[in-house]
Amino acid sequence: MGKLITISSRLPYRVAVSGSGIQATPSVGGLATALRSYFERSSNEFDSLHWIGIADLSKKQFEKTDSNPVIEVDQLMMHQVFLDPSVKQGFNDGFCNSILWPLFLYFPSFVDYKSKHYEYYEIANKILCQKVLEVYESGDTIWIHDYHWMLLPSLLRAELPEANIGFFLHIPFPSFELFRLLPRIWRDGIISGLLGADVIGFQTQDFARHFVDSVRQLDPYTQWDGKHLQKDGQSPMVGAFPISIDYQKFNSAAKSNEVRTMVTKLRQRIGDLRLILSVDRLDYTKAILNRLEGFELFLKQNHGFHHKVSYFLLLVPSRESITKYKENKLNIEALISRINGAYGTLSWTPIVYQYQVAEFRRLVSLYSSADIALIVPSRDGMNLVSKEYVASRTAGTGALILSETAGAAQELQQAIMVNPNDRQQIANAILEGLTMTAEQQSHRISAMQRLIKKKDVQAWASGFLNSMSEVMQSKEHIYGR
Ligand code: UDP
Repeated sequence: MGKLITISSRLPYRVAVSGSGIQATPSVGGLATALRSYFERSSNEFDSLHWIGIADLSKKQFEKTDSNPVIEVDQLMMHQVFLDPSVKQGFNDGFCNSILWPLFLYFPSFVDYKSKHYEYYEIANKILCQKVLEVYESGDTIWIHDYHWMLLPSLLRAELPEANIGFFLHIPFPSFELFRLLPRIWRDGIISGLLGADVIGFQTQDFARHFVDSVRQLDPYTQWDGKHLQKDGQSPMVGAFPISIDYQKFNSAAKSNEVRTMVTKLRQRIGDLRLILSVDRLDYTKAILNRLEGFELFLKQNHGFHHKVSYFLLLVPSRESITKYKENKLNIEALISRINGAYGTLSWTPIVYQYQVAEFRRLVSLYSSADIALIVPSRDGMNLVSKEYVASRTAGTGALILSETAGAAQELQQAIMVNPNDRQQIANAILEGLTMTAEQQSHRISAMQRLIKKKDVQAWASGFLNSMSEVMQSKEHIYGR
C-alpha cells in the first residue's frame, strides 16, 4: 500500500540533545496527540509511517550529536527539516502565527501584514516540498496538516501529478469577509495552493463552506457540486472531518490504579472543595480573561459558594516570543492576582494557577477530579480538551461548560453552551454545573461519551484516508491510470 507520509509543522516527538546523542519525548498539542494515538494502533495499514516536520534543534546543534537525521521512534520515521533561524522565525512567528493564526481565528486587528513574512512562508513551503520529494515513492499517500503548509499541495502536484495528496486544516477557515483582508497575492497563493490536494478537509461544515465560498468569490467560474470543486482541471473533494481523541486511552487511564490513587490524594488534600478546571495553551483565542471575569461574577453573586469552590487554571506555555502572547500572560496573571486578592482568605484560594505542562496521567487525574470543565475559547478549530474531559469521566458525573464558537460545540450538544463574550452567561453556567443533580450530569455525560467513543481519532483518520482512496479510485477510473 506504500508509505503514509504525514506533514505538520512540529514533529510528534520533541528532540533535545542528551549527552552525545538525542532524546525524543512526545510533544504537546492537538494534532500530535491525535495522530500519535492513531499511529499507535494502525501501523499495519501502511508499509511504514513517516512524518516530516521542522526540527527543534538547529542543524549545527544536531550535527554535534552522533545521531541519524532520520529518527525512528515507536515504528515511526521522523524526517527533520532544518530551517535557517531567520526563515524559521519569519515563517513561524511571522506569517503563520502573526498573520494566519489571528486572521483565521477572528482576531483581524492582531494581524501584522508584513510582506516579508509571506516570502518566508513561500520559502519554507518550498523547502518542505523538496523534503517530501526525497521521501516520496510512487504509491505513497501524502497527508498534509494545517495552516503552515497551505502552498504545499500545489507545489507537490506540479512535481507529482499522479500522487495521492490530502490536506486537513485544524483551525477554522474564516468567512470570505475576513479572508479577503489578506493581500490578493497571498490569498490567491493560498487558494491555488490548497486546490492542489485531492481531498481538502475541515473541522466543521461551516469551515468547508467558508472555503468553497472564498474559492468561488475569487473565481466565479469554479463549479461546486456539493462535494467536489472543479477548477483548472482539478476536482478536489471538500468536506468536514471533525477531529477527535483516543477515547479508550483516556477512559482506561482514568480507571487505572495509578490515576485513581492520584485522584484520591488530590481529594484528600482539598476535602469537600468543588473543583472547576480549565486546561489550555496560553493563547488569546482561548479567552482566558473572559472566563476569569465570568468566575469573578459568579463569586460576586454567589456568596454561599465562597470557600466551597476553587478554579484550577492550567495554562500551557505557548508562542512565548510573540508580543501579543506575552501581553496576554501579564493580563491574565494580573487578573488572577486581583480576584484572589479581593476574595481569597488564609484558608481559601479562589483561583489556583499553574503555567506548565502536565504529563498524561496527571492531566487525566485532573479531568477525573474536576466537577466542572470550563472550556470557553473565543474560537477553536475543534478543542480536544473538552472531549478528553468527557472521556475521563468514568463515574458518569461532571459538567462541561463549552463555548458555542468551538468546533467541538457542533458535536458535544449536551454541554452547557455559553457565548465566550457573555460573562453573566458564564457565571450562570458555573452555578448550573454546580447545582445539577448527579442524574442530570450522567444523562449529559453519557450521551457525549457515546458520541466520542464512536467518533474517535481512529474513525477520524480512517474517514479522511478512506476519502483519499475513493478520490484516487475515481481518478484511476477516469484517467485509466
Ligand atoms: N495537553 C497536554 N498537556 C497539558 C495540557 C494539554 O498534553 O499540560 C494536550 C491536551 O491533552 C490536548 C492538547 O494538549 O490534547 C490541546 O489540544 P486542544 O485541541 O484542546 O487545543 P490546541 O492547543 O490544539 O489549541
